[in-house]
Formats: sequence, structure tokens, C-alpha cells
Amino acid sequence: MNAKYVYIHTIGCQMNVYDSDRIAMVLKPLGYKATSLLKLADLIIVNTCAIREKAELKFFSFLGRLADMKREKTDLIIGVGGCVAQQEGARIMERMAHVDLVFGTSAIGRLPGLIGQIESERCQIVDIDMSAGIHEFDYGEDEHRNGKVTRFVTIMQGCDNFCSYCVVPYVRGQETSRAPAKILNEIRLLVENGVREVTLLGQNVNSYGQKEGLCSFAKLLAAVNDIDGLLRIRFTTSHPKDLSEDLLLAFKDLEKLCRHIHLPVQSGSNRVLNLMNRKYTRELYLEKVKKLRNLRPDIAITSDIIVGFPGETIRDFEKTLELIKEVKFDGLFAFKYSDRPNAAAARLPDKISEQEKQERLQRVLDQQGHYTTLKNEALVGCVEDILVEGYSKRHRVIDLHNRQPDVQWTGRTSTNKIVNFIQGDGVIPQDEIVAGKMVRIRIAKAFSHSLWGQPVKAELIPFNLDSLIGEKSNVA
Ligand code: SAM
Ligand code: SF4
Repeated sequence: MNAKYVYIHTIGCQMNVYDSDRIAMVLKPLGYKATSLLKLADLIIVNTCAIREKAELKFFSFLGRLADMKREKTDLIIGVGGCVAQQEGARIMERMAHVDLVFGTSAIGRLPGLIGQIESERCQIVDIDMSAGIHEFDYGEDEHRNGKVTRFVTIMQGCDNFCSYCVVPYVRGQETSRAPAKILNEIRLLVENGVREVTLLGQNVNSYGQKEGLCSFAKLLAAVNDIDGLLRIRFTTSHPKDLSEDLLLAFKDLEKLCRHIHLPVQSGSNRVLNLMNRKYTRELYLEKVKKLRNLRPDIAITSDIIVGFPGETIRDFEKTLELIKEVKFDGLFAFKYSDRPNAAAARLPDKISEQEKQERLQRVLDQQGHYTTLKNEALVGCVEDILVEGYSKRHRVIDLHNRQPDVQWTGRTSTNKIVNFIQGDGVIPQDEIVAGKMVRIRIAKAFSHSLWGQPVKAELIPFNLDSLIGEKSNVA
């Protein structure tokens, strides 16, 4: 079979990154190799995001640019997947006639058949059927052998919460959890291929398994914690209303569970939280933060904020700023509210002007920037265990001390802060530093988005790394 190339363009969240990996995997038996060069592509898949208007506009602009390419290379196949595909269906082809395939969020398992049909019949297809539920993939021996140290693993799809601003329940469908055995097998296979950290993904991980009568999320975490060779576990996202006592305790009891939680608050005003249908109050949120910090004083807490929700008054907005000041998050993702198709808030009156939303966003970012910097600066002088992920973006640097070129590595603290470092004065032999190893680093400098450190004498190997299968220098 002649090699053909697929270029996958991923927009949006970690779920889409995970789905794009699955897309590449199911296309392999058709002879498609993944490429990062657009001009080599025989097939282009755009994996889209509908969460905010901006992401959707980004997608249409990218898709528009592909029209010229298709004119020059007439047998090129263009497919659109993900949340915008699910939301818009055939309307995408009405707008962009050069698109051959629109496939929804539940159609990845059917992709080989759809692409095969387009290759032989040169037809246009729309498949946005969601009735089949979660598709479980059969992983081949080498499916995960791509040198990565950290990977996402979806544990559930969809969402039943219907927050009034959110499109997810409409484009990802009802909440459905995967069986624990499938999740654990996938993680074991990842670990056998060099992965040392997994992030478990779901829109509301706390309700994992409840509908299906599977185990609780805390029990699933405990089972993942028992997997030999895995060093770290993260998860996202936990809805504040469902953050249970047993999950809180997991932060104390499970040694591999990282000291970081992403707990989106969205607003500090009870009136707005109510309009958002979030089903918790500011007081309940603060209570959960207090409990988390009592159990793990060193836990990092990050959050999401929406500014300019319909009807958000200046007083409501100030309550959000006050909450940010009170919690002092380690980091924040802040967004300007945008109307989404079907989402209830799109029908609310008293929309906030774009200029006002922009000003509120800037105030949130400025305030949080101050706390992020303070948190990072507080780490200077501390010793942190870093899971090395590979070379940093600035791969080669000059070590001023030795005047020798040195390799710059990157990794994260348990609290999810990026740390870059070089081998420096040689306390750790160069060949000992490889992606997937834990290295103990003293933090020397703090920047707004990262830290800089130096390896200290002892290398930290908290688990028996020598016994791991596939130990290799898997630098990304
Ligand atoms: N399931 C997660 C939760 O409940 O917090 C969030 C998932 S959503 C993919 C990520 C973030 O996008 C949300 O936390 C929210 O802050 C933001 N978001 C969602 N819909 C939005 C909208 N219509 N306008 C602006 N931001 C939005
Ligand atoms: Fe959207 Fe709310 Fe579900 Fe999160 S919990 S995905 S914000 S509906």
C-alpha cells in the first residue's frame, strides 16, 4: 500500500487532543501516516471546537484557506470533525463546498469506512449520528509508542449539567463513562510505552460512573495509583458542586496524585452563578477551597472565570475580583462570555458590550497576574521534584558558567508549574537526564509563566524506574 499522509489540525481542549490521537490511530490501517507538513497531506482533518465564538471563527478562517489548496490538488480529501461538525452538520458544506466529510464527536470509530467510501466514490458525506455512545478502540502493540511522557486519557464523555452558557451538552451528548477495566488497560499500555504521567479527562469527573453504577471516581483514582511504573496522575475537570469528601481525601492518600486541582468557579457573584445554573454558591466554593488547603496546604488551585455574562453588573464583577483576591489562585483561565447556539444564556437579556467585556477581562488578568507572580516567586530557593518531559523550546543554551553549550530540559512540578533547567555544573551525568525521569531541582528564578532551576545533588527516583518496561531516552 502506498504511503498517504494525514494532517490533523486540532483546535480546542484536551478532549480534542485526545480525539485527534484516536483519529490518527484509526486511519493507520488505511495507509495514512500522520504528518506535520500541510503541503504533504492527502487528507486534512480539522478537529474543531465550539466552546466560544472565537474558536469557531478560527476554524472557519483555517478552512477557508484550504480552498486554494484543494483547487491545486483535486484528489485532496478534507474532513471536519469535533464540536462544530456536530453542531453545524451539513451547513458546513453549504458554506464551504470544498469539504468532503463532516463527522461528529461520536463518529471517530466509523471514520475508516467514511474515508474509504470518499476515496472510492469521491462523494461528500455528513455523519453526526450520536446514538452509538462511546466507541472503545482496540489498541495495537505500538499504538502509543510516540515518545511522549505525559498523555491524556478520556474517562467519560458528554455532560448532563447544562450550565446556561455552555454548548458541551449539545455537541458532546449525554454524560457516559467508560468502564474502569478499559481505562486501566489503556493506561497500562501507555506506561509500557514510556508514559509516566496521565491526565484523566471528563467534563465533570466527580460524577464518573454514577449513572452506569460503575465505581466512584475516587476508587478509579486509587486503582490508577496502583499501576506500576506510572509516576503521576492528574485529572480535569472537577465541578465544584460535586467535589466529594472521598476525592478531597484522595489528595492526602494517593502518593501519585499531583498537588494540583483545576476547579472552575466562573463567577464570584451568587446571582450570576444562579443565572449560570452552576448549582453552588460562592460560600460553598470557598468552603471547598478551605478543605482542600487543610488537607494539602501546598496544593495549587487554578480556575476558569467568565466575564461579561448577560446581566453581570459592576457589583457582580467586583465580587469575582474579591473572590480571586481571597483565594489567590495559582493560575486562571479567563474568558469573555460569548453566546453559543442552543445554550440558554444566549436568550438572556442585558448583554454586555464587547468593550466592557474586554475591560473586565483585562482587570481579571492583571489582578491574577500579580498573584501568579507572587506564587512563582515564593518557590525561589525551594527544592521541587520535576518529571522531565523533554527538551524545552529553547533547546540549546550556553551555560555561562562553563561556557559550554548545554541542553535545556523542561518538566513540571507536581503543582503543574513549568520548570526549565540545564544540567549545569554536572551534578547529574548528562545521560542520566532523560524524558520520563524525576529530577530534583532547586528553583533559582521565577518568571510569569515558568520557573528556572538547577538540579541538586541527589536525583530523586521515588519509584523503581529501573524495573520499568521500555526504559528509553524518549525525548519528544
Ligand atoms: N466542564 C468544565 C466545568 O464545568 O467547569 C468546563 C468545560 S469548558 C470546555 C471550559 C471553560 O470554557 C469553562 O469553564 C468556561 O469558563 C468557558 N466557557 C464555556 N462556555 C463559554 C461561553 N459561552 N463563553 C465564554 N466562556 C465559556
Ligand atoms: Fe459545560 Fe457546565 Fe458541563 Fe462544564 S459542567 S461542560 S461548563 S455544561
